[in-house]
Amino acid sequence: MKNFDEIGVSYFLNRHRGHFLEDLKTLKKAGFNSVLHTFSEADLLYGPGNVRDMVAISREKGFTAWISPWGVGKAFGGEALSDFLLENTSAWQVMSDGKKYPAACINNPMFRKFMLQWTDAAVSYGADAIMWDEPRFITEQKGKKKIWGCRCPYCRESYEIMNLKSMPLFKMDESVKNFRELSIKRFISFLSAYAKEKSGGKIRISALFTSPSAGGISPNSFFESAANLKAVDSLGCAPYWFNTPGRLDIYGHSLMAAKNLKEICDMSGKKPHFWLQGFGLKKGRETDVLKAIDAVKDSGIRNLWVWGFNGGEMMSSLSSENPEKTWSVIVKGINSGKD
Ligand SMILES: [Zn+2]
Repeated sequence: MKNFDEIGVSYFLNRHRGHFLEDLKTLKKAGFNSVLHTFSEADLLYGPGNVRDMVAISREKGFTAWISPWGVGKAFGGEALSDFLLENTSAWQVMSDGKKYPAACINNPMFRKFMLQWTDAAVSYGADAIMWDEPRFITEQKGKKKIWGCRCPYCRESYEIMNLKSMPLFKMDESVKNFRELSIKRFISFLSAYAKEKSGGKIRISALFTSPSAGGISPNSFFESAANLKAVDSLGCAPYWFNTPGRLDIYGHSLMAAKNLKEICDMSGKKPHFWLQGFGLKKGRETDVLKAIDAVKDSGIRNLWVWGFNGGEMMSSLSSENPEKTWSVIVKGINSGKD
């Protein structure tokens, strides 16, 4: 039996059709059957046709095509810059110290409208699925203080309606945590329902959240609480280990996140998917990925995604020190039996 039903990879920073066709051949040979195309604000502004073509080519060649709002408004994960933030400084998050932070507030009507435009484009390209990648409120450690967003007028009003009191000024208490979490869930529900309606119910919705079980430490939205989002079909986790201090038990860390996610998805009727860290591997530590792959196999999750293609070599800030080797270890690991 094959290890996985779906093996996908994120693909970014190449918009050359010929190169992409070659890469798809490489991916097919390596056992991949899905590709996630990052769709940034720069793509939307200057290269929407390229993204549309790449989604179409992926599907023509037998791959499932996912698409994600890469760094859009910096309210989602991703290493892309935001033109929306330059044009709409009033939509920035307002932090608990009163300063503005360059990440769009998901409760701001202008940003929500912009995300509908993004969704219109994504749906019109015929993507099989949209993945909402870690939508977020910002939390920052400033000296001994934890600074958090968002205290913009829209958030304060929404908080007051929910809690019948003013939003706390400095302290992130339970009511603020709940408010942030509920805001993210409402935002994702709003966009997902819109995408489903626009696509005539065809597009699948996938959402990637963090969790304490996946090493997520910021008080943000967790996949545990996203299980009741009706319009979301698949929940994912990305328990990367590159930021964790000291020596980590990569197998144990990955297994805990994967099993937790699977259990939650089994209970809520959603499909779980696991993102493997395929970037940022130190020289000589490439086989670390095998521990995470083994954990996914043991968890029973059948959908494995790798971030990103070729060991991350296309972006030096993300690249593994030996991307070729990283990639070959990954390919071997996902295709071989455990022992
Ligand atoms: Zn706000």
